[in-house]
Formats: sequence, structure tokens, C-alpha cells
Amino acid sequence: MAVPCTLIPGDGIGPDITDATVRILEAAGATFEWDRRLAGMAAVDKFDDPMPDETIESIKRTGLALKGPLETPVGGGYRSVNVALRRTFDLYANVRPARSVVPGGRFDNVDIVLVRENTEGLYSGVEHFIAIGADPRAAAESTAVVTRYGSERIIRYAFEYALAHGRKKVTVVHKANILKMTGGLFREVGMEIAKEFAGRVDYDERIVDAMAMQLVIKPEMFDVVVTTNLFGDILSDLISGLVGGLGLAPGANLGANAAIFEAVHGTAPDIAGKGVANPGALVYAACLMLEHLDDHPRARRIRDAMESVIRERKTVTRDLGGTATTAQFTDAIIARLA
Ligand code: NAD
Repeated sequence: MAVPCTLIPGDGIGPDITDATVRILEAAGATFEWDRRLAGMAAVDKFDDPMPDETIESIKRTGLALKGPLETPVGGGYRSVNVALRRTFDLYANVRPARSVVPGGRFDNVDIVLVRENTEGLYSGVEHFIAIGADPRAAAESTAVVTRYGSERIIRYAFEYALAHGRKKVTVVHKANILKMTGGLFREVGMEIAKEFAGRVDYDERIVDAMAMQLVIKPEMFDVVVTTNLFGDILSDLISGLVGGLGLAPGANLGANAAIFEAVHGTAPDIAGKGVANPGALVYAACLMLEHLDDHPRARRIRDAMESVIRERKTVTRDLGGTATTAQFTDAIIARLA
């Protein structure tokens, strides 16, 4: 039976890489009932709103979305698309896998899944300026909120992810030596949950600064990594850099009521409309979506096909060192699926 899924082509290179990804999914025999909806600038042009209600309603109905990159309108009173989605669907987990694919990079053996808490920490939006004398912005204060509930659900998610994907270890990253309460609570919850999974998934912990150094020196030490919002934001980009940047980096945003899959990169305005964008990150995001639907064999087939084309280096896009167009790269992957 076809799975209903909201499809948001997005802006810039979004429509091209979305078309490519849909073609690859169909060639692999995946059956989705696509509900195409607008968001980003495409939606501003039509509805004067970058995240129209009808798009939100579609995701409420399907609980599943594949999303191209969205241009963030600069200026104006527009609501932020990511904030609207995160709030509406309580998307508490941001999952970013990173694996060495292109040979000859800085590291050949990175295979890390970073799980970032997406709703709390320093992103809770509790901040203000403090006026002193004539200066209304003499100081600024921000409150980090860490709850037992929020920590439990994200750390549990990381351990369950590890179990479901045959991974061996979860590293909890924190700053509990200095932030004794916010960091301390996150760490404490990590140790409690680790006991439930003892014998099935190993537990490990790191202070975030040491983690940053060890990731750069010996990334192969790490498997699944779970951390709070701001540390996750920074470490996830660091980890993408270890495997050659954003061109092949997918992300999943998961909550109790919806799961939204996307490429980590943006709309690439410099190459939009030229037909040369690399669809790889969105194809990987689609593979995460298939795994979310428990279709692991098909996800593996698509990944294997794409990676064999990438390793061969004959029909790859410019950012991967080749000269192929989006369509030629896509056709090569489809030919490999046959
Ligand atoms: P970007 O990721 O769009 O581009 C950075 C560089 O990487 C550019 O040189 C671009 O050509 C290249 N690049 C990115 N994706 C590529 C691909 N698939 N194939 C080949 N090359 C690729 O970042 P930016 O320029 O900072 O942002 C552009 C717009 O995208 C902004 O409006 C920003 O707000 C938006 N954005 C959206 C998302 C999202 O919707 N998830 C994420 C990041 C940025």
C-alpha cells in the first residue's frame, strides 16, 4: 500500500533535487502517495506565508514529510519555518548521520549518528536585555532549560536508535563539570537510562570541549552521540566537515506526531536553475525516511547504488569532483538499482 507523504520541493535547487529523489525512490519500487505542498519563498509568493496552514495540515494528516531546502525570507514579519514546524509537531529529535563515502578524504572510517535535543537548552527562547543607566542593552541574559522529561526522551531515543540499527555505543555529551545543574541533569539521566540498556548498548560520556578535540583527532571512536541543543548544533556541523561537508549530509526531525526528512544544506542560490545540484543529501534523507518506515532493505539498496556511483567517480556532480548534471547522476544511480 502506498504511504501518504507530504512532499515539499522547496526553493532554489530544491525542486531539482526533490524530483531526482522521487525518481530514485520510484525506481527502487518504493510506493508513496505524494501530497505536494508549498513552503518557503514559493509559499510566500502564493500565500504570503512561508509555512502556510495547508502545508501544516498536510503534515498533520500524513505524519511524514520529505522537504527540500527553504529560503528564509530576510526582513518582514514572517514566522520562521523551522520554528513553526518544531513547535507544531514537537520535533524533539534531530538526527544527523555522517559516514565517510568519498575515498581519499581526511578520514576514511567515520560512521557517526549525532542525536541532538531540539526543543530545550539555550534555544528555549527565554532571553532578554538588561538596561543599565542610559544603555538599554547594557547586558543580555539567556536561560537554558533542561528538563528530566526532555532529557529522558532524547537519550532514550538515542539508545533505542542504537539498538534498532545494530550500533554498539551511545556517547552522552555534556558540560556537567561547569553547568552543574543543566549539564548535570542531562548527564544524570544519561547514566540512568544507560543502566536499562546495559549489556545491549555500551554507554560512554564526554565533556563537550574534549569531545570536539577527540572528534577531530580520532572520530572512529564514536558511534551514536547524544547531546543538548546548542552542543548538538555545533558538533553536527563539525561532524559533517569530517566526511567532506554538507553535500551528502541528511537530517531527520522526529517527534511523537510527525517525522520530517531533509538535506542539511540550503537552497544553493549560486547554482539554482543550472541543473548541476547534487541530490545526494536528499537521497540519503529519503533513505532515513525508508528506515523510519522499517524498510531497511530498500534504504540499503539505494545507498549502495548511490555510493557505488560516487566511488566510481565517473558520473558525479561538480561538488563531488565530476562534470555530471543532476539528471545524469540520478540516471546513473537508477541504472545501478536495476
Ligand atoms: P547553502 O547550503 O545553500 O550553500 C552553501 C554552498 O554549498 C553553496 O556554494 C552551494 O552551491 C553549495 N551547495 C549546497 N547544496 C549543494 C548541493 N546539493 N549540490 C551542490 N552544491 C551545493 O547555504 P547558504 O548559501 O548559506 O544558504 C542559502 C539559502 O538556504 C538561505 O536562504 C538559507 O536560509 C537557506 N537554508 C535553508 C536550509 C533548510 O531549509 N534546511 C538550511 C540551510 C540554509
